[in-house]
Amino acid sequence: MVSLSIDGKKVEAEPSQTILQAAQRLGIHIPTLCHDPRLAPSGACRMCVVEVEGARSLVASCATPVSEGMKVSTQSESVKRARKLNLELIWSHHPNDCLTCDKTGECQLQKFMYEYDVKTSRFVEQNPPPRPDDSNPGIYRDMNKCILCGKCVRICDEVQDQHIWAFSNRGMQTSIATAFEKPLKDAGCVFCGHCVSVCPVGALMDKPAAKKGRPWETRKVRTVCCYCGVGCSLILHVKGGEVLKVTADTHDAPNYGSLCVKGRYGFEFYKSPDRLKFPLIRDRIDQPFREASWNEAIGLVARKLMGIRQKYGPDAFGCLSSSRGTNEENYLAQKFTRAVMGTNNMDNCARVCHGPSVTGLRASLGSGAATNSLADIEGAEVLIVSGSNTTEAHPVAALKIKKAVRQNGAKLIVIDPREIELVQYATVWLRLKPGTNVALINGLLHVILKEGLENREFIRQRTENIDMLQQIVAQYTPEKTEEITGVPQEDIVKAARIYAGTRKGMIVYGLGMTEHKAGSHGVMSLANLALITGNVGRSNTGINPLRGQNNVQGSCDMGALPDVYTCYQKVDDPIANKKFSEAWGCQLPAKPGLKEPQMYREALAGKLKAMYIIGYDPAVTQANIHHVRSAMKKLDFLVVQELFMTETAKLAHVVLPAGCFFEKDGTFTNAERRVRRLNQAIPLPKGTKHDWEIICLIASAMGYPMHYHHPSEIMDEIARLTSEFTGIDFKRLEGDGLVWPVWDKNHPGTPILHKDTFTRGKGRLNDLLYTPSEELPDDDYPLYLTTGRRLYHYNNGSMSLRNPEIYSISSEEFVEIHPDEAERLDIKTGDTVRIKSRRGSLEVKARVTRKSRPGSVFLSFHFPEVPTNVLTGPGEDLLALTPEYKVCAVKVEKT
Ligand code: SF4
Repeated sequence: MVSLSIDGKKVEAEPSQTILQAAQRLGIHIPTLCHDPRLAPSGACRMCVVEVEGARSLVASCATPVSEGMKVSTQSESVKRARKLNLELIWSHHPNDCLTCDKTGECQLQKFMYEYDVKTSRFVEQNPPPRPDDSNPGIYRDMNKCILCGKCVRICDEVQDQHIWAFSNRGMQTSIATAFEKPLKDAGCVFCGHCVSVCPVGALMDKPAAKKGRPWETRKVRTVCCYCGVGCSLILHVKGGEVLKVTADTHDAPNYGSLCVKGRYGFEFYKSPDRLKFPLIRDRIDQPFREASWNEAIGLVARKLMGIRQKYGPDAFGCLSSSRGTNEENYLAQKFTRAVMGTNNMDNCARVCHGPSVTGLRASLGSGAATNSLADIEGAEVLIVSGSNTTEAHPVAALKIKKAVRQNGAKLIVIDPREIELVQYATVWLRLKPGTNVALINGLLHVILKEGLENREFIRQRTENIDMLQQIVAQYTPEKTEEITGVPQEDIVKAARIYAGTRKGMIVYGLGMTEHKAGSHGVMSLANLALITGNVGRSNTGINPLRGQNNVQGSCDMGALPDVYTCYQKVDDPIANKKFSEAWGCQLPAKPGLKEPQMYREALAGKLKAMYIIGYDPAVTQANIHHVRSAMKKLDFLVVQELFMTETAKLAHVVLPAGCFFEKDGTFTNAERRVRRLNQAIPLPKGTKHDWEIICLIASAMGYPMHYHHPSEIMDEIARLTSEFTGIDFKRLEGDGLVWPVWDKNHPGTPILHKDTFTRGKGRLNDLLYTPSEELPDDDYPLYLTTGRRLYHYNNGSMSLRNPEIYSISSEEFVEIHPDEAERLDIKTGDTVRIKSRRGSLEVKARVTRKSRPGSVFLSFHFPEVPTNVLTGPGEDLLALTPEYKVCAVKVEKT
């Protein structure tokens, strides 16, 4: 540490720190325009100049390191004069339109002009006029207001690593521009809005806000993103019941100021005219719906469900809740199913994504949750990213991966059949054939064990079953693994040595691991890797699923599963069963219920008669949707609770309109087990109700009174029944929330699991053989179809497609096809092609790209007009029954 004095006050600082940082420690304000703690110092704006005793001239405090004995003055006359002069120079090139500029109130230049009493500039007679550019989606640009601080350039380079902006021209002509002044959409911009968020003036602004309101007129409401499992913190800027824009605070975990396009610009869906505004009912699904009052609709649902329960028994009912719903809603859905309907036929849409994570991680470690926090990614020395197109599916988590590699020198091993963006950052890319994950990881295990690179001490003390694992992986020699997976054996050996050679090896994975016939096995295989190298139970290690939807973790934690109550307390464990039976005042069923795919099979067999589906659209997002829709059509009674008239709602007898996440209080749990508050920002639309209220109304109408005044009371009940949540209540969740387990009201939370012992005692090394996918390409259907997510959209598109700004960037689906296949089939980008599988066919435009593996094509299922799941197959994970979205066989023809 070095000692220095600033404005006569003594302070100690690290030698690597700057004068600005030392002053901030003392609470001394130094004005800055080009500084951001996330970026390397540039000293461009010169607003932060200070006087250092003995220095020949003023120095930029943001770029000058502290030194022993330094004496600094931040407010001397020469400092003030210099800052005033700088402001005059900056102002000389700035439009004079503060009265009408939408940045008024937030503009840093305006603030400092006022603070330093600078009213005009001596250097020009007339300021240039505004030069608005409204041509880009989401982002409004006025380059005459640009003060050339370079923050937009640096944040795009250093944080987003997208390199869209650059300084162009020289001298007085210098400006910030895209390459060849292309529109952002054509320049490779991903519309994360980082550049907008750091612009200190009105040169770059969010478009929606630029049209509607002043900063002092808005209320700032802190909440959580409703899209992916990263669970970014958001600040909603609300005026008069309307959300004007979304920003993020640089202090808030887990995103620290970063957002992706969906989080920043995907918020306008809530005011879509398509929102459901009143209950709809009908007797048969071939009839049109008619509007009903809430009393009539709730009464009908209660009567029908009671009738079905009485006539066919409790197990004739099944409930599916939503990983987009809050923890409190998911808790009530499973309580309703168990306590009111008397069955464990309860599942949620995690079944179609991370069901195998719950199954696989529980089998290996005892807990079906991520072991570490997302922040740990940045400090890892080796990262395995497996089956995760992170930059598109979890963009803010991808920033942490990029930072680990680019700034901290981490080695990245990418396991993916597609040439995803992260491949550019990889030390080794294992481009395996779709569906061969287990074989590939067995190959890695083989090398590690054969070369003696395993952590013997860890294996001996903390794991079981090493002998069986050794026997199984002995057969997965690099040669054999190459034969099965298509990955060159030297890459297998290289990756194994890299991962086994560190004490800070972290595994991050996505749906490319789970949505396979051997999805749970894939997850267990990854756990095997972590266990035999001892890379678990410490910072910057572990095995971490990137959850698909925002509350996949929470919906499973809340017991919206067929075999467990909250936090995985088993329904067939007599102690847990007794505890919940007593708390809920009824005898609960002990037999585990049906998983979602089993519900469809039972419905087709005429045994399941009624379903209650909350915020989930399986008629689009389930695989093999003809089968799913046929099952729904066979039900005697289907209730759907939704925001929009989805394809599933179209098959319902009753549709109940619910509120969206801007309109509700509650909690979400992100991929790192962080439980956080979402806060109601705007009122519910007239005619709709909160999901939790609707569940309570139905339960009460069925003779089981459920009365809560607020979701916080539901959380209090969860905490009473769940040891891991004992220390959680709404008050404690203010701020960054808490990472469960939280054992008591003073417990700080547990960012790292399995430190000294695994939840199941010893970590289990599961001996697993490679199981081929259910349907492989053949002469009739020669190509693999893999499905997944695109950056701009999400799930069935019901929310993301209803955002005009996002829709203007991405409005149609395309199939990705490798140039080799394209040439063989005479297909060019833009051609319309027909894709056929054994179950259906569809037409879509083609995009020829090397991103697709040779022999494979790729589609998302975001766009209803391209119903990808008519193609996907009947394959399911052997244990969790999650559909095998990642592999089926298709053929492609040019139409
Ligand atoms: Fe929302 Fe995920 Fe994007 Fe964060 S990364 S803003 S949570 S969609």
